[in-house]
Parts: sequence; structure tokens; C-alpha cells
Amino acid sequence: MSLATPLVRPALFAGQTKLLIGNQWVESADGGTFETLNPATGETISDVCAASATDVDLAVKAARHALERGPWGKMEAGERGRLMFKLADLVERHTEELAQLETLNSGKTINDTRGDVGGVVATLRYYAGWADKIEGKTIPSRKGFFSYTLRQPVGVVGQIIPWNFPLLMLAWKWGPALACGNTIVMKPAEQTPLSALRMGELAIEAGFPAGVINLLNGYGETTGAAIVDHPGIDKLAFTGHVDTAKIIARNAANTLKRVTFELGGKSPNIVFADADLEAAVNGAYHAIYFNGGQCCTAGSRLFVEESIRPEFVARLAQKTKQRRLGSPLDTTVEQGPQVSLEQMNKILGYVKLGEEQGATLVAGGAKWGERGFFVEPTLFDNVTDQMAIATDEIFGPVVSVLPFSGTDDLIERANNTNYGLAAAVWTKDIDKAHRFAQQIQAGTVWINCYHIFDVTTPFGGFKESGYGREKGEEALLNYTETKTVTIKVE
Ligand code: ADP
Repeated sequence: MSLATPLVRPALFAGQTKLLIGNQWVESADGGTFETLNPATGETISDVCAASATDVDLAVKAARHALERGPWGKMEAGERGRLMFKLADLVERHTEELAQLETLNSGKTINDTRGDVGGVVATLRYYAGWADKIEGKTIPSRKGFFSYTLRQPVGVVGQIIPWNFPLLMLAWKWGPALACGNTIVMKPAEQTPLSALRMGELAIEAGFPAGVINLLNGYGETTGAAIVDHPGIDKLAFTGHVDTAKIIARNAANTLKRVTFELGGKSPNIVFADADLEAAVNGAYHAIYFNGGQCCTAGSRLFVEESIRPEFVARLAQKTKQRRLGSPLDTTVEQGPQVSLEQMNKILGYVKLGEEQGATLVAGGAKWGERGFFVEPTLFDNVTDQMAIATDEIFGPVVSVLPFSGTDDLIERANNTNYGLAAAVWTKDIDKAHRFAQQIQAGTVWINCYHIFDVTTPFGGFKESGYGREKGEEALLNYTETKTVTIKVE
């Protein structure tokens, strides 16, 4: 494998790097900036403004003003939807530019980021359609009275997102928030600040009034924490690490903010001997290596029935060794770099731990290339449930094959994790498949497929994988307050 020549070359990034507050691009109050890198080369792309607590306060004031005094609060719901459709059209028109920018800053392959931009468009359109369909109920309450419910925006929402799907996570959070009439203070991840800024420009172009969407880049412990602490923020939506969520939950308790969390996973992917072997091998490969393993739903615990294990592992190893790494701008490349040096080192640390604890390294296991933060796709066999590579979320291209025979304790083993985000099963036996779907503790279950996502289906976690659901109609529940109105009827 060699570093391929990029087929597409983005212009050196010369876009917006400031904070977006009240539709104005401004520098941070304390002049703070941070560097953002291209993970494929380790080179600096640009300096980006980092928001201080003062900037968070200004953004919250702008968002509050937009909600209570600006045109947004008075706008017909259908008009909100039309703005969202317009933004979706603009995003679609700028697909290639957004995809290249995302690839440059995150290391995700260009094929994946083009797909992500398509997901952004679909998400904005789906929620644009909801804007004028968010209805309350009429309730047969006490005699002589009539009650109905209103579903009103929660208010100013703080949204904190991670680096693995920067544009898509933005859209999953903007979509329902805007459809329900909220205003937004968003903090993108410090590793990937750029694509959100371009989305801010497009939102202004689409015609969103000042203060509806505010964008504050910066670090979690400063900008993120100031958003969590701010008493003017009514609700928080967070996607990221479970340990960060626990800090946020504790801090948000001071102001009793509503919080929704979409966190990590250690998803079981179970292959029975009666599965279509070819499909299951391909599925297991995609389950773990998609996006360089940087997916909260990654199928990192691969349970394989003993009778097919040797052949299954041999076929998966062969595919793994052939995976094409290189410049993420090359359309023939399947895996780019990990997002950062820190992530690369963390992953390589887990590989070392896997070997030390006695797992069999079948493929990969090393840093790849001369520069950038690449990790070879890595396959371990003979992993036991207690090994660190089987218990911890690695967030990289490392899969653990856990052998099983018989089904007696299989569900118990699959559920033996604090996480509960996703799971999959490969079998031709319909009873086995549905029994698994019923018993597994996970917010998403795939049968004979993996990583099939659509904006129409709810997504979120059981246990420490979070609370609340994103996507689908359910996401709207997180962005409205229900108000009961009772009228005396003579
Ligand atoms: P990851 O391990 O995927 O980087 P994090 O949970 O650290 O996950 O980051 C996800 C998002 O949470 C990022 O935008 C990050 O800046 C933010 N973040 C990190 N720490 C905090 C914090 N203490 N308060 C608020 N946000 C935070």
C-alpha cells in the first residue's frame, strides 16, 4: 500500500475561521485561537478562533433575542421549514466543496464525506417537512373544562458535537431543533472546526435570521463547559465520550438543563454458523473498519460460532490485509488517517495491550505510512471477554473475535457491557434473529446487515450509551416542551 496521489485537490483552506454570533463573524473576546490540522499529513491548515465564556454569553444572548424578539419566534412553522429546505438545497449544491473540506480536516475518505453531505441534505429535508406538523392533543379532561396541549420550543439549545461525523452530527442536531423553533448555540469538536463554519455561511445565505444559529469553536473544558454551565441555555444535546457525558450531566444538574446524550458503544456483532458466510464476512469488515473504526456503533466485539471460526477469520484477515490506505482525497482509498495523533496513539496502545493479554494478532497492528495518523486495520482472534480490547471502546480499526459454541450464555455475554448502542446478528434462522433482537440491550439492532442508517429511524442508546433518541419523529420530543392549557367551558 502506498500513499496515492490525490485525484481531487481542495484549495488550501481560506474560509471562515471566526465565531458566528448573531449572524456576525467575530473574533473571540480574549483573542484566543487554536490550530487545526490535516490528519493525513499532520500539517496545520489554519488557526481558528476559540470562544471564551464571554463569547458563550454573547451567543446565548443573541439566541435568546432571536427566540423572543426576532422574526424567528413569530415565524409561521411552514416558513421555518422553507428556510430549512433552502439550506438543504444550498448544501446539495456545495456537496463537493463541503466533502473536500470535511476530508481535509477530519481524514475521512472523500467517498465517505460525500455520503455524509448527502445525509446532511436528507436530514435537513426530513426535518424541514416536520416543521409544520408538530401538533399537540385535545384531551377529554374534567367535566366543564376543555384541555389541549401546545408543543413549544424548549428555547435556546446548546449542542456539542464530536469529530467523527462533523457535518452529519451537526445536521442531526440542527434538524429537529430548528423544526421545533428553537435557537442554537453549537460547539463543533476542536479537531474538526471547519465544516461547521461553512455551514454557518450557508445558513446565513439561506436566510436564517440573526441569532438562530450561533457557532462557537473551542475546547471542551473551556467553551464546552461554559455552554454547559450557562443558565440561559435550556437544553443540551451532546454526542461524545461517556466520561465527558458524566461530567456534563453533573454540571448541567446545577441549572437542571434538559440533556440528551448519544455516547459510545462496544457493539456485539454475532455470526452464527448458519449465516451466509460471504455476506457476514463483508458485513463484519464494514462493521469495524468503516470510517476507520471511528463510529460509536462500530462492530468491535465480533462473536463467531466456533464451527465456522477458522474459515471466517481467514477470509476476514485476507480482506483486512487488502484494505487500501492512503490519501483520503483519493477516491480509490478505503481508509484515511485517524483524526489525531492522540487517537492514533490510544489505538496503538490498545493493540499492544491485546498482544500482552494473550489475544492472537492476525492482521495489522501497526502505524501505517511515513506521515499522518494512520493505523493499519487490525484483527485479533482468540479474544476473551475480560481483555481490554473486548471491554473498552477503542474508537479505531481494531476488531476482536470472541469465539462461542452453543447459545446458552451468548446473550448474557453480548449484554455484558455498560454500553448498549448497537448490535447485529447474522443467521438464516428467523426465530434466532428475532429472539436476539428482543433480548439484546441496544438501541439499534441489525439483522444480516450493519451500519444501515436512515434519518427516518430513531437512534440512541440503552445503558451508558446515552439517553434520548436522535433522528426520526422521536428526536422532536427532545426539542419541545408540552404545555397543557385548560379552559372552563360553561
Ligand atoms: P472524543 O473522545 O470523541 O473526543 P469528547 O467527549 O472528548 O469525545 O468530545 C466530544 C465533544 O465534547 C467535543 O466537542 C469536545 O470539545 C466536547 N467536550 C469535551 N469535554 C467537555 C466538557 N467538559 N464540557 C463540555 N464539552 C466537552
